[in-house]
Formats: sequence, C-alpha cells, structure tokens
Amino acid sequence: MVTQRLYGGIEGGGTKFNCAIGNGPENIVAEMRIPTTSPTETIHKVSDFFAPYLGQLHGIGLGSFGPFDLDSTSPTYGYITTTPKPHWGNINIVGMLHEKINLPIVADMDVAAAGVGEAKWGASKNDSHSLYLTIGTGIGGGYIVNGKPLHGLTSPEMGHIRIPHDLKLDPFRGACPYHGDCFEGLASGPSIQERFGQRAETLRDDDPFWEVEAGYIAHALANYIFTLSPKRIIIGGGIMQKDFMFPAIRKKMQEVLNSYIPHNTILRDIDRYIVPPALGNRAGVLGCIALAMDADMMR
Ligand SMILES: [Zn+2]
Repeated sequence: MVTQRLYGGIEGGGTKFNCAIGNGPENIVAEMRIPTTSPTETIHKVSDFFAPYLGQLHGIGLGSFGPFDLDSTSPTYGYITTTPKPHWGNINIVGMLHEKINLPIVADMDVAAAGVGEAKWGASKNDSHSLYLTIGTGIGGGYIVNGKPLHGLTSPEMGHIRIPHDLKLDPFRGACPYHGDCFEGLASGPSIQERFGQRAETLRDDDPFWEVEAGYIAHALANYIFTLSPKRIIIGGGIMQKDFMFPAIRKKMQEVLNSYIPHNTILRDIDRYIVPPALGNRAGVLGCIALAMDADMMR
C-alpha cells in the first residue's frame, strides 16, 4: 500500500528555497518558492509555509547548498560553514528550522537530495549505484548507493576535482577561489560569465566554447566512472538546459574513455547512460521529501 503520510521537503539554494509537502511526484499537496534573502527572513518564510500543515507532517527533509556540516558528532552539525554567500557563513540552518518547526529534520547536501529523489522515483529508480551531478552556479555531485547518498569524512565535493586544462585552447585561469582551474573553476556558470563578460545562458549555441565545456564535463565524468562506476549518470543544473550539451558530452566522453571500459551501456547505450533528471526541476525538493520518508521508515 502506498503511504499516505505526508512529509515536507526544503531544497535550500543560493537564490531560492523550494518547499513542498507530499509523498511523491504524483502527490504534491502544496509547494512554494521563497527567494533566498537573509537567513532569518528566509527561514521565517519557510516556516510560515509549513505552519498550516504541521499536524499532518511526519518529518522534514532539507537539502542545502554548502559547504554543509553533516557530521552528527560535530559541534557545528547542521551549519552552513564556509560559504562565500553573504550572511550565510556559519549559519545553523538545521537549528533555526528546529526552533520554528518541531518535527524530525533530516539534512543532506542539495545534490545528494536530488540524487536520492531520482533514485526513488526518477531516472535511476532501477539502479543500485547512480551519480547525480549539477552544473550551474556551482558544480556538485551526489553518489547514491541503494537509495542512500555516499558520505565519508565529509560529503564528497565532486566539483573540485582536477581535469586537464589546455591553456592554449582556453587561457582562462579559472574562477574557483580555492583552486583556480578545478572542474568548477573551469566549467561553472560564473566561470563562463567571467571569461566572456556575459551570462552562460546568453552565450550563443554555436559558440566554440561549448565544445570546450563538453570536454571538461566529459573528463570529469570519466574520472567518476573510473573511481565510482555508477550505473547511471544524471546531469542537471542551468548549463544543462542547453539540450545540445548532452550529445556533445556523450561523444567527448567516449573519446576520453577510448573504449577502455568494455561495457555495452557505455559503448552502445550511452544515450540512456548519461541523462537529464526525469523529475526535472523538482528533483531536489522531491529528493528532500524522499529523505524525510526514508528517515521516517527507519524510526
Ligand atoms: Zn575548486
């Protein structure tokens, strides 16, 4: 029997907080987008959204931008830690929500939540091991194993790996304040804006840079395939709104792998291996609901 218990999902992003109530893609009872302003104002509006439903909810799932401290033994558990986003550094987001919403809150990184949503209801619902990657304002990835995001010492930071950077082809030094030309430093939306002085979405579709961008993403995917061997790779985020990027990435990735992994999924079935999120722009908030549901079932 399908559960009728309701859960809250909060996808906390740098520009907006997506909130929803429900228990699956076919049953969203209410949803709202709240602009990300100051922590106090944003959390206040989030709790106002949930207030009429509190008696019916069995838990809240929060997927937040980071870096986000998820170590339950840490004194700063539930804090957004070293973000450069103004006003949000060292903010106890889980604690602030708890003060307003007296329900169990399970928290994870935004990309991990989106990956959990896709694994429960979306593009990777039949895959034991899947990778969810977002390429937009930042770059991050969640690796989902049997429905759960992989955590180690901290959350993986897949956007900050090193990839080959041909300075003759792309002389840009990179936009990451920590590493310069790491993957995020070379391929995020802000890196494109810094190179060309215009937003990535306004860069013409026939600009030769998109080939370079597809190459960066392909190299990163090859590294994830070599180290994690996901059974499916889902890529979301603003950059991937350009549909031509998917075929370009698939082609480049086959060149990078050079037939080294003799699996038909990669050799012949790559169109179904590297895919957009099946839940679209609801992957994140549905993933947060999935986190809350899974935590409730473990109780
Ligand atoms: Zn970096």
